[in-house]
This record gives sequence, structure tokens and C-alpha cells, in this order.
Amino acid sequence: MRVYFWGTRGSLPASITAETVRAKIIRAIKAAKAHNFDNDGDIEDFIDRELPFPVRSTYGSNTPCVEIKNGEEYVICDAGTGLRDLGNHHMKLIEQGLQRRNGSVFNIFVSHFHWDHVQGFPFFTPAYIPGNKVRIYGFHKNLKNFFVKQQNQPYFPVPLASMSADIQFIVLKPEKTYEISGFEISGIEQKHPGISYGFRFQKDGRTLVYSTDAEHKTSYDSSAREENYPFLDFFKEADLLIFDAQYDWNEAVLSKDDWGHSSYVAAVELAVKAKVKHLCLFHNEPTYTDERLDALLEDTRNYLKIYNDHQPHPMQIDLAYDGYDIKV
Ligand SMILES: [Zn+2]
Ligand SMILES: [Zn+2]
Repeated sequence: MRVYFWGTRGSLPASITAETVRAKIIRAIKAAKAHNFDNDGDIEDFIDRELPFPVRSTYGSNTPCVEIKNGEEYVICDAGTGLRDLGNHHMKLIEQGLQRRNGSVFNIFVSHFHWDHVQGFPFFTPAYIPGNKVRIYGFHKNLKNFFVKQQNQPYFPVPLASMSADIQFIVLKPEKTYEISGFEISGIEQKHPGISYGFRFQKDGRTLVYSTDAEHKTSYDSSAREENYPFLDFFKEADLLIFDAQYDWNEAVLSKDDWGHSSYVAAVELAVKAKVKHLCLFHNEPTYTDERLDALLEDTRNYLKIYNDHQPHPMQIDLAYDGYDIKV
């Protein structure tokens, strides 16, 4: 399966400013000074090989939306602003004759209802097309009500009832395992204001866990986890763990304790204990610059070396960005 990140920013969208773009251009031109480029290919090579990620790119703006690609139906985690881009991409595929005009099925799994996880839905064009099927899954009892409310006056001009696709809401139970769109899916309740849920997807011997907006303590905390912490089972041997690591270490411990998010320290400790193969940090803090997010990724990789000292566990670590495409 493949995983495509349409939105990775936590809490609220974080647009890139003119000043930031200008600073990136200045750094790129400085780095290019000693080079002669004969063609566009040379320029592309230079960008990919010599410019660090925060100079050549950006971690992005959209709030959480992750697509799991395996099969004809769409499987999507959360409906943040990234869902709007997913919908627009789908419409482009129709124009190019690569998708059917209607009759597509979108399975959307919702972790919880904070704005950053649902605000893309009113802008999801395929939900306005008759003949499409939109299935919204979640563990909260008032699932439908929360979606209806965000489009009621005066919050949005178009009520949910005016969206022409066949939209259904399906409430799941965390103690059960479900077969949906060819995946075996289970959930877990997470510590977060108002409660959120993580999802575990399994298919063809591969496992992906989407676990965002969850607060976990670390081994440095006096109330540290016991060995039978349920998340160790939930994350167990995942091929990919998408994990809320919104804060760097200082913020998690000093000022944002009990805000409902985790640090990269908790991410590494849990992922190593659960023998995860690939850890992807997610729900990026909206106030962090690309450079600070890059430093956070570096700190996470360094912490793995320290934490791993006695019991080495090889694990790939990345930090998600809008447009990141991974094979799982
Ligand atoms: Zn969030
Ligand atoms: Zn939240």
C-alpha cells in the first residue's frame, strides 16, 4: 500500500509568508553561486542534492488528512483542510479521464472533531456530486451531529443536507475489529481533550497505525507508563506509525503538559518498545518554522541513537509534510 499525506499541520493551517519564501530564495541563490547549469536537469539535480529540505521545500500548511492507497475505494484518515486538495485532485483525474465522474467511494475515518480534523469537509467537492458515496466512520456516538453542526448557520452557508452525494455516518466500537474496504481495522481511545481515537489498518500482512492528537508521557515523567501500556500492543510491529509529535522536548515538559499532544521523546520510546519499523512524526506545530521542524526531526533521530544504546532497534524516522508519499 501507499500512504499520501494531504495535510500534516496540527491545530490550524499555517500558511507560508512572502518573507519566508524570500529568505528561501536568498539561501538558494547563495548556494548556487559557484555552479554552472547547462539545462533544467542540472538545476533540478542541484536542488535535490545540495539544498536542505527547509530551503528547497516546506513542511506545508494543510491540517490533517492522510490517504491510504490500496484498491479502488478511497481510504482517508481525518478531514482537515488537506481533504480539499484530495477532492480537487480527484476532480482533476476525472477531467483527465482517469477517474469516473460519479460512483466513487470515499471512506473517511475521523479521529475526533477538533476543527483541524473536520474543517476540510465542507470544501470536499466529491461530496457535492450525486452518485458518489461518502462513508464517515468514527468512534464518537454523536458523529453525524458534529458534522451537521459545523455546516449549520452561521458557521457555513451550505448545510450538510445540501451535499448531493450519498453521505452515511457509521459509529464504530473500539473493542471490535472491522473489515472495511479490504482492510482489517481496529481503534483505541486516546488521551486528548474531548477524547480522540487512533486507527490500526492491516492488509496483505502490512500494518499502518494512524495515531494523532494523543498525549503520552515519557520515561522521564514520574507517572511513566507501566509495561502493559495498551498502546504498545496497538502499535506492535507496525510497518508505519503516524504519530502526533507536535512538541519538542522543552515545550512538552515545561509549558504544554496536559495539552493533549506528545513529544518526539514519547514517539521514539513507544515506537522502539513496540518494534515499529517506520516512525513518521505528524501533527506539526503551526508556529514552528521549516528550520525548527527540521531540527526536531534531527533531535528525534539523535534521541533514537541514545535510547537505542543497549537494545538496538533499527527504525526509519521521518517528519510528515504535505505531499509526502510513502510505500508501506
Ligand atoms: Zn489536531
Ligand atoms: Zn485535537
